[in-house]
Amino acid sequence: MSEALTHDSIPAVNPATGESLGSVPVVTREQVQSAFHRARQAQHNWGATPVAGRVLALRPVLDLMIERRDALALKISEETGKPRFEALVAEVIPTLDALDYYLRNAETLLQSERVAHRLLRTTRSTLYHEPYGVVGVITPWNYPFFLTASIGLSALFAGNAVLNKPSEFTPLVGLEFERLLREAGLPPALYQCLPGYGATGQALIEAGCNKVSFTGSVATGRKVAAACGERLIPVSLELGGKDPAIVLADADLERAVKSLTWGAFTNCGQVCASVERIYVQESVADRFTERFVESVRELRQGPDSAYDVDVGSMVNRLQFEKVSAQVEDATAKGAQVLIGGQGQAGEGEKARYYYAPTVLTQVDPSMDVEREETFGPVVTIVPVRDADDALSRANDSPYGLTASVWTRSKDVAERLARGLHFGSVFVNDSLAPSGAGEVPWGGVKASGFGKSRGPQGLRDMSRIKHVSVDRFNLRDNPIWYPYSRDKYRLLSEFVPALFGVSPTRRVKAGIRGVRTGLRAFFGLG
Ligand code: NDP
Repeated sequence: MSEALTHDSIPAVNPATGESLGSVPVVTREQVQSAFHRARQAQHNWGATPVAGRVLALRPVLDLMIERRDALALKISEETGKPRFEALVAEVIPTLDALDYYLRNAETLLQSERVAHRLLRTTRSTLYHEPYGVVGVITPWNYPFFLTASIGLSALFAGNAVLNKPSEFTPLVGLEFERLLREAGLPPALYQCLPGYGATGQALIEAGCNKVSFTGSVATGRKVAAACGERLIPVSLELGGKDPAIVLADADLERAVKSLTWGAFTNCGQVCASVERIYVQESVADRFTERFVESVRELRQGPDSAYDVDVGSMVNRLQFEKVSAQVEDATAKGAQVLIGGQGQAGEGEKARYYYAPTVLTQVDPSMDVEREETFGPVVTIVPVRDADDALSRANDSPYGLTASVWTRSKDVAERLARGLHFGSVFVNDSLAPSGAGEVPWGGVKASGFGKSRGPQGLRDMSRIKHVSVDRFNLRDNPIWYPYSRDKYRLLSEFVPALFGVSPTRRVKAGIRGVRTGLRAFFGLG
């Protein structure tokens, strides 16, 4: 009998309206296993195909994605509750950007590299970027298309087969990407979407994947890393964040207000790199806060029926309740709500989860909202003395995904950017550069390790093989047996010649070494 993983099916729901979108069968453990075996078979040919051939095979995906852009945006919007504009601008377009970047650059990025040796002059070394084999790609619900597709595609370009476990909250989008690849002509076994719950993700790792790319929460990331560690499978982790913005007195406050409103509330704040903490210099704190609250007041929230909302619904009740609990904890401890601070969640057929964009002040580190990831439409504003005060507060976090700095001074911006312990830092901007196809993405500290997108994202999906070839085929090598005192002395004499800092010392050591050699081996010198 086949073993269903946790449940038999996943109900798909539009969280913005409560409307049912049908249901998706959960794969069984046996189905995960057989998907893995099919993937392994398919990968043999794919991995042996030159990169140029892979590029050719993946090119039709771009055309199909362009053709289907509106249908894709609608599907993403329906399953996540985000406005269609966000689905197009932050899911479909960055996926096209990443795909286009790899179509143009994969061949160069994955080219083998010659290494010139300094010591082993008789050796010729080459580095090859080889595929891992079958890569497990486990993805969350907040950007179900972009994250799944951009990571999945980089694995494919690198010559791997992919097994994707989409979030239980967005299986339809996961399946849609699989369909797109098939319609573009890719062999079905090369990319397979395996809908299920957490246990399916676990089963994927256990099936024998050669590498895992996980995007999700820190808590699940730890479990995935432990499971991979047990099997010694390499893993990349893209985890949560508690991202700060530093607004200094000389910043263009109008731009900062507009950009940070978007950075905090886009995707209903359900972004790993969402702006959740704003540190603003005291001298402009009142003016900034007043303008920021005004700008938040203008946001329109609701279901996207006519492209006329800015903020959508949260994805599910659990997420809604997490956000409510953080805000309640903060207000009970003395935080002040400047706007928002509550939401509306419906039941059953009317299930929808609208938490109002919320701004809090008077917060301190004893509150969860200052320490833990919120992953919802809540941002805090804290006045700070100066740039250094802001820097130390921004860095005082277990997370390190992104940070932003707002100032007109290039020097201050650079000093802060270098001092911030985060994977990406944006100067006078928030969020948008994180989705670009040509730059790497990934955090530090509890925000994870490994990179996706950009050159590093492609290399992260391949392993380096070093092949070295002896050029002259000589009969003997002085480092081989037998060892002797003379050989030792000769080698020791040459060490300063090889590595010494002063050129005169190096020449002298070289002459000494040659003399020792002549004496030892020919009785001369
Ligand atoms: P989760 O960690 O809950 O889930 C992520 C994925 O892992 C889902 O597909 C989930 O399945 C699966 N999963 C759950 N348990 C296991 C397990 N034991 N083994 C293997 N897989 C498992 O994250 P969310 O989906 O709630 O996503 C939100 C989180 O993702 C936030 O913390 C956010 O910051 C982070 N994130 C990070 C990004 C980055 O680039 N750094 C980008 C986007 C989000 P199921 O859904 O069925 O439980």
